[in-house]
Amino acid sequence: ESRGTEAPHEHSIKVVVRVRPLLERELEKSPECLVDIDTDKSIVLRPGGDLLKARKYREAQRFMFSKCLWSYDRRANVPYADQNTVFTEVGLEMLENTLNGYNSCVIAYGQTGSGKTYTMMGSDEEDGLIPMVCRQLFKRLNQQVDSKIQVKVSFIEIYQENVFDLLGRGNKLRVRENSERVAFIENLNEYNVSDSQETMRLLNKGLENRTTAETHLNKQSSRSHSILTVTVSQEKFDPATGSLVKLKSNLKLVDLAGSEKFVASDGLDKIRQQEGSRINKSLVTLGRVLTILSEKPNQKTVVPYRDSILTWLLKDNIGGNSKTSMIACVSPIDYDETLSTLRFATTTS
Ligand code: ADP
Ligand code: MG
Repeated sequence: ESRGTEAPHEHSIKVVVRVRPLLERELEKSPECLVDIDTDKSIVLRPGGDLLKARKYREAQRFMFSKCLWSYDRRANVPYADQNTVFTEVGLEMLENTLNGYNSCVIAYGQTGSGKTYTMMGSDEEDGLIPMVCRQLFKRLNQQVDSKIQVKVSFIEIYQENVFDLLGRGNKLRVRENSERVAFIENLNEYNVSDSQETMRLLNKGLENRTTAETHLNKQSSRSHSILTVTVSQEKFDPATGSLVKLKSNLKLVDLAGSEKFVASDGLDKIRQQEGSRINKSLVTLGRVLTILSEKPNQKTVVPYRDSILTWLLKDNIGGNSKTSMIACVSPIDYDETLSTLRFATTTS
């Protein structure tokens, strides 16, 4: 629904759901699959087993999204979504957007074990979205003749509202705002990279640092958010205007903390109630910010970006003329967590 001229910009968040397959250890118990995809835009969640007996959980529910990706099993009527499908559905658009000089953001959301890291990073066998986007980015940049290009990367982790540089010495960093009210991280390491291998080497180094810090500080990576930022500066000749154009944009690739037990299954009201307690402030604020943005805010709408470190840092990648995609990852056998993820994803799309 449109509010006509009131809206300063056409902002939409593309939400894609991905159902992961059963894992080896799950298959042994031959659990019941609780989700179904009936069209490529809708997903049905139904209670199974004991839940069926509880009155609260009788009905199956249908949720609509931009796209529903099925990676559960091979079926005749539903295409199987492999890593390439995710790249085509989500990565490509973000890549185009970045090359065109707009900020973009891909956020993986879901409970621990739902496939966020698999989707973003991939596994030993299969590259995920980040390596695929990086490879395509450099391929496209290398095709641009007569242009000056610089690509930089940084990689951070947010844990309990503190920022850590995954490519630095692991110390806490401060978030500040420049004169244009753009948030930045003080003393953050940014590296120039010239190809995707170099980018992946840094990324892997960061992931190693994350694991080490985890053992030392007794943190759990499932409770922290990681953000990889790829900044692209281009200076190229525009044949249309006959002049030199300078473009600078960045793409943020976000692997969120596990969403479990943070949204109760009665939805967002519960989020508001639980605010300020032990739950993850950044996830709650992200939900609120995305919900406000999806309701087509006007100039007067206050978007509470600064209420959490995550949203503060993502401000210029989720608001304004930037483009955001969220991949809501779900497990096919966890009713409560899947319901909560689908509800969260619905309120933001
Ligand atoms: P999260 O990062 O959300 O905690 P992971 O990405 O680590 O979850 O996924 C949990 C497990 O499921 C991993 O072993 C991963 O390889 C596997 N997995 C997740 N999604 C898929 C998928 N689409 N296809 C195959 N394996 C997957
Ligand atoms: Mg993970």
